[in-house]
Amino acid sequence: GGTRYFRVYAAPLSGPEGALEGLVMVLSDVTRLRRLERVRKDFVANVSHELRTPIQLVKGFSENLLDTDFSDTEQTRRFLKIIHRNARRMEDLTGDLLLLMNLEAGDGPGLELEETPLKELLAEAAGMARAAADKKDITITLSCDEELNAKVNPSFLIQGVFNLLDNAIKYSPAGTAVELRAFAKDSEAVIEVADQGPGIAPEHLDRIFERFYRVDKSRSRKAGGTGLGLSIVRHIALLHHGSVEAESHAGEGSVFRIRIPG
Ligand code: ADP
Repeated sequence: GGTRYFRVYAAPLSGPEGALEGLVMVLSDVTRLRRLERVRKDFVANVSHELRTPIQLVKGFSENLLDTDFSDTEQTRRFLKIIHRNARRMEDLTGDLLLLMNLEAGDGPGLELEETPLKELLAEAAGMARAAADKKDITITLSCDEELNAKVNPSFLIQGVFNLLDNAIKYSPAGTAVELRAFAKDSEAVIEVADQGPGIAPEHLDRIFERFYRVDKSRSRKAGGTGLGLSIVRHIALLHHGSVEAESHAGEGSVFRIRIPG
């Protein structure tokens, strides 16, 4: 549905004496092109918007600092912490942007899919998430058959699973459990990350995989989110010719599921 856009090409048809005898018109449907231009513009606008706040904070607090004589070490420390936190935010954002661009261009570090035992790979992703989990007293349990293999790009898949674990930890209350499990089903390898967090309301479920879409902006920012984590996971699943989906009932936690064809 929605509006469609057309580009019109017209050329006159002249007769022997140069008299105008007709007009040839070509209508070409440029709706898709328009939509792509729109997506690109929105993306650039979003990136600028995301960068503006940390840049302003770094600028403002460094100016504040330069106006002082640094005698108040408590205050100096506080300002430096804000500057450091916001520099990190920009680092995370540019890092995620670069990764996303590479994934979209399909020219990441080696796209070969190799038959890989999943258990080790999942253990590595869980290891990367451990420090954040420990801070919140969250336990990550791993269940995966030793025999389970899939055709994957190990470094990309580790990144994808890590992003899901990272979210599960970020959005869940302290002291809860996160389950990482993988199994074979209908010739697919299925990887699930289940948490006991707040869950996601149905109207948001389809949209959370969009770039910069957040259910709760301030919550995501406070947790250190860039808003790109799940769109990165979606791209990684697509590079494996697979898919990612979320299942959740508000108040009952969420399950994220990556499917990789056999
Ligand atoms: P962010 O950097 O904001 O976490 P993501 O793309 O990773 O960006 O996730 C998009 C949004 O989806 C988050 O802002 C959050 O609202 C929601 N979300 C993702 N994972 C979970 C989860 N495990 N539990 C609840 N909400 C989640």
